[in-house]
Amino acid sequence: LAIDPAQWHEGQIQFTADQDRYLRRVLRLEPGDRLVALLPEPIGESRWWLVGLEPTGATALKPLPEPIEPIQTLTLLAALPKGSGFDEVVRQATELGVTEIVPVLSDRTLMQPNGNRLERWRRIAREAAEQSERAAIPTVTEPLAWPAAIAQMVEHDGRFLCVARRSAPHLWQALQLLADSVPNPTSAPTSAQSQSPRAIALAVGPEGGWTPAEVDQALAAGWQVVSLGGRVLRAVTAPLAALAIVNAWGET
Ligand code: SAM
Repeated sequence: LAIDPAQWHEGQIQFTADQDRYLRRVLRLEPGDRLVALLPEPIGESRWWLVGLEPTGATALKPLPEPIEPIQTLTLLAALPKGSGFDEVVRQATELGVTEIVPVLSDRTLMQPNGNRLERWRRIAREAAEQSERAAIPTVTEPLAWPAAIAQMVEHDGRFLCVARRSAPHLWQALQLLADSVPNPTSAPTSAQSQSPRAIALAVGPEGGWTPAEVDQALAAGWQVVSLGGRVLRAVTAPLAALAIVNAWGET
């Protein structure tokens, strides 16, 4: 359950009519029952709290420990697929731990998003974060043209451009090489996770793929081309595969 700043004051939570109906009629919760809710912090990101239901609203009881997310910044840049395909990308990417989603208007992007789409994607990210009990809701930025998107990623220490090309090194290998080269400020490395790069950007192209010029722009900006395996994945499947690889790698 995610709560807006306006609904939460000095430890007391006021639910919206929809939330109240959901808690009492659908989940059949009663005063005295406990649940977890994502509460906004005065400064910084939202945080999960244990809250106690009251006859009206609820009281925040205690914050829950922060889950460990091995990679601190995980940015997905995805060229907008046609139709409503990006809805699915946002939902699944949120479940798989992205911290930021950048919709990219690439040369071969067919879809022209309007303002309502952005609002919709942000709502989907919020719902998916709730569903997967994430501590933070990923940011969905305004759609960016590819050169502008590249320019925003200069601080990321790993920048990977997914290309459906067998000759490219596999993302897993590229992550391993990066981990070996990134010094970690914390204790002596014992696993991939303890050597994790702090910020990773993954870019996935549209149905027609990246143009040669777009690949060149990325290479010139220090990106590395990577493969996700020998099969050509759909534009909505590739982000899922890339993020699953990063997750599996981060947990080994
Ligand atoms: N014919 C297009 C091409 O050669 O790029 C296929 C595009 S594919 C449907 C859409 C996007 O998914 C690609 O631009 C790439 O980013 C990603 N993708 C699909 N399969 C991939 C794979 N096996 N490895 C890496 N990226 C892949």
